Amino acid sequence: MRNVIILGSGCAGNTAAIYTARAGLNPLVVIGHEPGGQLSITTDVENFPGFPEGVMGPDLVANMQRQAEKFGAEYVYGTVQKAELSQQPFRLDIDGEWHECRALIIATGASARWLGLPNEQKLIGHGVSSCATCDGAFYRDRQIMVIGGGDSAMEEANFLTRFGEEVTLVHRSEEFRASKIMLDRARANPKIKMLTNTVVDDIYDVHKNEVTGVKLRNVVTGKIWDQEVDGFFLAIGHRPNTKPFVGQIDLDPDGYILSRGGARTNIEGVFHAGDVEDRIYRQAITAAGSGCKAAIEAERFLEAEGH
Ligand code: NAP
Repeated sequence: MRNVIILGSGCAGNTAAIYTARAGLNPLVVIGHEPGGQLSITTDVENFPGFPEGVMGPDLVANMQRQAEKFGAEYVYGTVQKAELSQQPFRLDIDGEWHECRALIIATGASARWLGLPNEQKLIGHGVSSCATCDGAFYRDRQIMVIGGGDSAMEEANFLTRFGEEVTLVHRSEEFRASKIMLDRARANPKIKMLTNTVVDDIYDVHKNEVTGVKLRNVVTGKIWDQEVDGFFLAIGHRPNTKPFVGQIDLDPDGYILSRGGARTNIEGVFHAGDVEDRIYRQAITAAGSGCKAAIEAERFLEAEGH
């Protein structure tokens, strides 16, 4: 029986681990299917306070884990398959092994969205990617395409110009969700070509087991054409990782946890931290802040329960 189990090892989970470990609660952190969360697939982080020269995302998150371990947090690899939260103690099936805890912090984050094209999944790892940082270097002097109109798409397109001969940014409308500074930076980059009002209808070539091109369609004019592409990067947002909690934790229509204020969920003793609840800010620093809140609330809950 654990006092606290923390699900997720991104900024939110690690910060919750630092606080609960330092409070002597000996938390167990379940690393999840994306170890280190979003920061582990980022390069330079320039807006995390305390690093005037910037810091590499993977270094930042690895340091957080070291800091939590220093205070006694334990980390295990695994993913929650099933959760039983209707009564105390809470029970979690982590890859076939049941674990019990008095307080639970859900910091499972949100995962990349895909377009849902038939060939897309077949070509993941063969030219289709959702992580520019991980796969960009494979496309040195090649043709790269990025899909999306938010900050992620701008950031990835800019980053990929370090490698690609040309980066084509494809966005389905003319309105961009990206912040002005990120959009201006992408527009000013001579290696980025923007195609707006454009969608991808197909990705070639499954028979060759590699991306060779895409079929594009202008949604205003109806024009359809093929374009050669070597590296195809999705940057169209994320989906919250809440599947094991459906029917137990109150979720909004998109699957994000509905907060009951602070870090509280509808179940007493179950708290949320990070992007699994936050669809607005989604920054490393806000995730860290919410991990801290969840830890403090878990600590107070356990104290009130006499543990
Ligand atoms: P986002 O802001 O939700 O943008 C997703 C983009 O993908 C939108 O342009 C959307 O188009 C498009 N899209 C969604 N589904 C699509 C589909 N099926 N087909 C084609 N296009 C599709 O997501 P994000 O860019 O990942 O950003 C998430 C949050 O992280 C934001 O708050 C952002 O500011 C933040 N962020 C910040 C930084 C930074 O400051 N360094 C970097 C990255 C992200 P529509 O607009 O037409 O819906």
